Amino acid sequence: MASNRLYDAMPVMVQNLGCTWAGYQRTRARFSNHFYKVLAEWRKTELLPQEELLEVQKRRLFRLIDLARESVPYYRGLEAPVDSSDPSEAIAQTLASIPVLDKDGYRNNFESIINPAIPVSRIRQSRTSGTTGSALRLAHSPEAIAEEYATVWRMRMSHGVNLRDAHLTFGGQLIVPFSRSGTPFWRYNYFNRQTLFSVHHMTPANLVHYVDEIHRTGATYVWGYPSSLNLVARSMLELGRGIPRGKFGAVFTSSESLLAFQRDAIEEAFGAPVLDRYGTSEFAVSMTECLEGNLHVDMEYCIVEVEVDEETEEYERGGLIVTGLSNDVTPFLRYRIGDVGTRLKSPCPCGRAGDVFRDVDGRNEDYVVTPDGRLVGRLDHIFKEQSMILEAQILQDTPRAIDVKIVPAPGYAQADEAKMIREIRLRLGDEIHIDVHVVSSIPRERNGKFRAVKSHLGRVAA
Ligand SMILES: [Zn+2]
Repeated sequence: MASNRLYDAMPVMVQNLGCTWAGYQRTRARFSNHFYKVLAEWRKTELLPQEELLEVQKRRLFRLIDLARESVPYYRGLEAPVDSSDPSEAIAQTLASIPVLDKDGYRNNFESIINPAIPVSRIRQSRTSGTTGSALRLAHSPEAIAEEYATVWRMRMSHGVNLRDAHLTFGGQLIVPFSRSGTPFWRYNYFNRQTLFSVHHMTPANLVHYVDEIHRTGATYVWGYPSSLNLVARSMLELGRGIPRGKFGAVFTSSESLLAFQRDAIEEAFGAPVLDRYGTSEFAVSMTECLEGNLHVDMEYCIVEVEVDEETEEYERGGLIVTGLSNDVTPFLRYRIGDVGTRLKSPCPCGRAGDVFRDVDGRNEDYVVTPDGRLVGRLDHIFKEQSMILEAQILQDTPRAIDVKIVPAPGYAQADEAKMIREIRLRLGDEIHIDVHVVSSIPRERNGKFRAVKSHLGRVAA
């Protein structure tokens, strides 16, 4: 709502009212009667044993397939569901007859995947953020939005957080104009008791003010992008101004891969556990983390299959194929979402039934191209072990060279740069030219997300 010039020109107080109005509108769209009904239902089904949970999942899959066969042109030829007394068998057999839908297939058939039985007035359209590749058109019913938020709030409530609690957010909205150079770097949504921090103004000097404001608010939980929360957390720890344990109930992260070092810094600074969630803008998959550190598939909301590349006795790992059980407007049946996950073969010690993943990695990022033409991904892992580097970004315009921007931690020395270059060379070889630039901050994308790799050559279609 806030990325326009009119908003930017308003006084801060009026922007606060704008954020409050937007919060009110969001609340109306997300927290409908349907939301409360489903949330109450799913808070009960969460506790079901495996067999009964699969029974719920099976019923929801069959309902969606019947609806898709009946009204969605793209799915007209689909076979009827195959029932069995064993729900996991019924689900597996039913899915086996459905071809996988990849992103190109979805993009090219969008018009025939939209369910014409749903009145246009009930359809909410949006797009994927499209930081890489071209954006996808998306369409949802109000019920799909409500059910997505039911998974979010089921997780939050199971950690003692309630809908009306005061909170802090560090997300993508452009709530503070880019050009602004003085405080405040946050705005208030009075309706939801939310303090929205800008993720576009996080320089070391500005972060001191963020830390003051975090201490000033009476918030009890935090939500944000891992990359932004990590910066704030590092600043809190450096200033010796971490939050004592017990003030915040939890820190919830989503939208980017949460790296181990980010989690450690955030938990220490906020004195609360970090709980991650995996979801996507297609509203076709949701996984929520438990205190054991595992991601539980929200079984009422989706089915997740793995295209296994790697398997051991403990886990299987590979690309994810998701079936969303809530979106009746554009049913995603066996959709190749483009992320990779590690599914555990034994149940989670926390006692919650259903499928459990140890991790999910987003593939939604660019690759670096080496001079000999190799595409190399997941380069953000290089910086995992580099404790003297706060943030880093790799830029590439030609296969012969990369530029590496780094924000150093206090005490950063030449030896740290040498160590980082060794790590890069391990993955990209000795031939590529590497230029290191020490900077005080790295700009976010327009959507507030951090991109570890930006290449004009190795762009991945999202
Ligand atoms: Zn668990």
